[in-house]
Amino acid sequence: MTDNKDDKTLSVAGKKTLTLKPSGVQQGTVRQDMGRGRTKAVVVETKKKFGSLTRHKDERPITPVSATPAARPAEPRPVQPHPAGRPAPQPQPHQPRAEQNRPRVGVVLNDLSAGEMEARRRALAEAQVRDAEEAKRRAEEEARRRVEEEARIAREKEEAARRAAEEAARPAAEKAQESLEDERPVVAERRPDARPQPVRPAPAAPTPEAPVSPALRGRRPSLEDEDERPRGGAAAVRGKVARPEPAKPVTRPKGDDGRRQGKLTLTAAVDEDGGQRGRSLSAMRRRQEKFKRSQMQETREKISREVVLPETITIQELSQRMSERAVDVIKFLMKEGQMMKPGDLIDADLAELIAGEFGHTVKRVSESDVEEGIFNIADAAEEMVARPPIVTIMGHVDHGKTSLLDAIRHANVVAGEAGGITQHIGAYQVEQNGQKITFIDTPGHAAFTAMRARGAQATDIAVLVVAADDSVMPQTIESINHAKAANVPIIVAINKIDKPTANPQKVRTELLQHEVFVESMGGEVLDVEVSAKNHTNLDKLLEAILLQAEILDLKANANRTAEGVVVEAELDRGRGAVATVLVQKGTLTPGQIIVAGDQWGRVRALVNDKGEHVKSAGPSTPVEVLGLSGTPAAGDRFAVVENESRAREISEYRQRLAREKAVARQSGSRGSLEQMMSQLQTSGVKEFPLVVKGDVQGSIEAISGALEKLGTDEVRARIVHSGAGGITESDISLAEASNAAIIGFNVRANKQARDAAERAGIEIRYYNIIYDLVDDVKAAMSGLLSPERRETFLGNAEILEVFNITKVGKVAGCRVTEGKVERGVGVRLVRDNVVIHEGKLKTLKRFKDEVSEVQSGQECGMAFENYEDIRPGDTIECFRVEHVTRTL
Ligand code: GDP
Repeated sequence: MTDNKDDKTLSVAGKKTLTLKPSGVQQGTVRQDMGRGRTKAVVVETKKKFGSLTRHKDERPITPVSATPAARPAEPRPVQPHPAGRPAPQPQPHQPRAEQNRPRVGVVLNDLSAGEMEARRRALAEAQVRDAEEAKRRAEEEARRRVEEEARIAREKEEAARRAAEEAARPAAEKAQESLEDERPVVAERRPDARPQPVRPAPAAPTPEAPVSPALRGRRPSLEDEDERPRGGAAAVRGKVARPEPAKPVTRPKGDDGRRQGKLTLTAAVDEDGGQRGRSLSAMRRRQEKFKRSQMQETREKISREVVLPETITIQELSQRMSERAVDVIKFLMKEGQMMKPGDLIDADLAELIAGEFGHTVKRVSESDVEEGIFNIADAAEEMVARPPIVTIMGHVDHGKTSLLDAIRHANVVAGEAGGITQHIGAYQVEQNGQKITFIDTPGHAAFTAMRARGAQATDIAVLVVAADDSVMPQTIESINHAKAANVPIIVAINKIDKPTANPQKVRTELLQHEVFVESMGGEVLDVEVSAKNHTNLDKLLEAILLQAEILDLKANANRTAEGVVVEAELDRGRGAVATVLVQKGTLTPGQIIVAGDQWGRVRALVNDKGEHVKSAGPSTPVEVLGLSGTPAAGDRFAVVENESRAREISEYRQRLAREKAVARQSGSRGSLEQMMSQLQTSGVKEFPLVVKGDVQGSIEAISGALEKLGTDEVRARIVHSGAGGITESDISLAEASNAAIIGFNVRANKQARDAAERAGIEIRYYNIIYDLVDDVKAAMSGLLSPERRETFLGNAEILEVFNITKVGKVAGCRVTEGKVERGVGVRLVRDNVVIHEGKLKTLKRFKDEVSEVQSGQECGMAFENYEDIRPGDTIECFRVEHVTRTL
């Protein structure tokens, strides 16, 4: 106000124009005069903007300019510093501030003497320098204090805001707030005692947004203007530090105000204040959104399930159990090169692979839930008692297996027993030194492996019969391989030592080549020289068996429900279904209900190997079981169940399983893990089990060597068995038991073997060039099987007679024994299951006419192109070549 009056005076005294211009500037000073503290502060700020040095320079021009009216536009600036210069009075208390202002302006406006001017200018300059220093110091102090104060205010505001809702004295608070309208008093008054004051800002936030913010907002710009330097860096940095705090105020104890002071800046505080409100809402919203999202994610998140897998399952069913879409499963299979439909059956191995890929765990129920608790019931160790060993006799044909079995049996038949005639029930027991030994009456490895292929291993010890006059023969080797594949120890019985040509040592030496090391050759395999014909050393053989059994420490629990394996079964006219079983665990008694394979029944009677009805059969005892509903297969496992409904349930399940398996097999091996594996390059060593049969030992050795070289760190071929000669049923069952593929090199499979292979879903591949064979195996191993030529068997014709016709050459008079014979397809001449020649037919005649095909049972004349060595008894095999996807 005073200043305004001054202005008027000035304008009256001198130039109107000048007074008007600076009046804008003076507006500020008017307000600042209201209180001492306030005046000081603002003056300092204004001065600060016009640095002392610049001001001096500006000052000078003032006089000359002011003298000239032309310099008017420049005037407002020169004038401004003057009011700013007012704080000078403080260092010079004798000079009243208002007074100083006035004369100064007056000096400018009125021409003074040069001396006066000089003196005043000096005084002014000195005062200004002092002022500048003082102001600078004060500004810094002020800025620091303000920062502190504002921080405190902000904090108090938060507190106030928190309590605002409870605040009753609202009007009073409003008044208080009015008095706070100007920031200065707030700063000044709070400084001495910040804590008693929280009430004051309190009204500011009756609702978070309301009255405080205007006050703050009003204040903010002015502070920002004034306080640029101190704020700049600090605010920026502190702002960040301060930000995370808004969430805290509620929990922050009052007492730690001081501790927090230095950490807050004005901006941070203001932000905090305003921001907190905004944030509390948006934070809520965000939190809600986040929560919702997490909820959503949870539902979408993959849940790893335990998928129960039966032995076969459709893709549809598997998808359902995994809670996956069938289409995703099919997509995955497609990626792996398997084109399948939702309804396709796959085996458990592949299903497990898929489940694993989809992040699920599996529970394989190989024998399904209905079978749970029937087989493989664990026995307490103290319940276990020694049981007789179960022995299978193996060896090459005509080496004396049957003779030996008979000799052992008869030698041990109690004298006087019905003329020594014993019952042939598929297995029998003998006694030696009071210890029992059970022999399986079906010699040969075929039955042995057939049982094993059905999942039952009945044999504990294999007796390998080798005729001393014949030494090691192909089936001897087969037997060794079968026994080894089953992990069954071998005892060598060198037979026919009564013969003058017998050479037992040769047998031992040759066995070395097949990794059977008998004791006398430094190995651990027991060997006994016997003569089945003369019953020589039979007791020694039995002792050797008992010794081996002792090493094996064979034990079983007899005090439990029985389980075991079916050795053979037949439908007897008078007695119905009769199954010879070997009890492996527990004791079987008549009246019990058993399940055997997919058959069941109540045990009507038990008949032992001597044809006697018995009341019980303990471990390792062979008995005939009467009362089954049908004939189970050799190798089927049997067990006692608690009631008929359970038995029915299990047998029905097994019948269903058998059907499903058959279907799965029919759809080819494409759904099997083997093929999958051949396409997947997975880690770990994968083995390619193979059964290799060849025409001569030399070629087999060449093939074995070549296949061995193929092995890498990841995959290698494992030859389960190899041998010279045609492919037999026993090869098929071995392949089935070992999951192997069969390779025939220049040999064929006989009819039984072909049928068995078809039933078992085993593939037989024929080759006549080692290079092709090795290439195929290589391709299969590296998962690079591409569609290639494959032949289909068409038919066989037996050569009855050979005619030598002039000009035409040799013509075979044949009868088609199997399938049909066609012209234009591939033919092979097979002699003793070995391929002699492969080529094309020159003629195919029926009577005198050239025909395109001849059916089974009919006779025909055939001649080979460029091949004459045909003999009666040879077989001509007809085959067609197709291009199909290879699976090995
Ligand atoms: P499998 O085919 O292995 O069952 O052999 P067999 O038991 O049928 O016997 C084949 C032939 O060898 C028969 O003619 C037997 O008489 C004969 N044989 C078996 N064991 C002996 C033996 O110890 N000594 C002699 N000299 N001949 C035997």
